[in-house]
Amino acid sequence: MYKNIIFLDLYGVLITPKSQMRTVGFSTFDKEAVILLREIVEKFSIQLVLTSTIRLTVDWKERMYELFEEAGWKNPPIADRTPHGYGIRGDEIAEWLKENEVNKYVILDDHNDMHTEQQDRLVLCNSRYGLTRVEVKEVEKKFL
Ligand SMILES: [Mg+2]
Repeated sequence: MYKNIIFLDLYGVLITPKSQMRTVGFSTFDKEAVILLREIVEKFSIQLVLTSTIRLTVDWKERMYELFEEAGWKNPPIADRTPHGYGIRGDEIAEWLKENEVNKYVILDDHNDMHTEQQDRLVLCNSRYGLTRVEVKEVEKKFL
């Protein structure tokens, strides 16, 4: 069975100016954004593929689990990360999609450096507020 995938950015999606204020020098997820993401992930059996630059750190997966757990979500379905070195983010996502079979996918990001053919799979967040119920509704429509 093919998977449903969300390509997940962090800064401007799960990490917001508000969530950053709670910590010094380290990223913290916005708890409400995490609750919203979890709802949609569980509803459509989605797997997460990280596109944020945090993915390039050695211990990226442990850090992901830590950040999610700190925000109240233990063991989220983190499947993978996009490859590095293909230019814009849209290239990295396209590269990942070449190697993996998916059912449907959505790109969650606060910047649009995606390809033309990826535009209808993109749900753009406002960097200041991150993921809110408005974007989650859009994501939901794309998985129906
Ligand atoms: Mg971002």
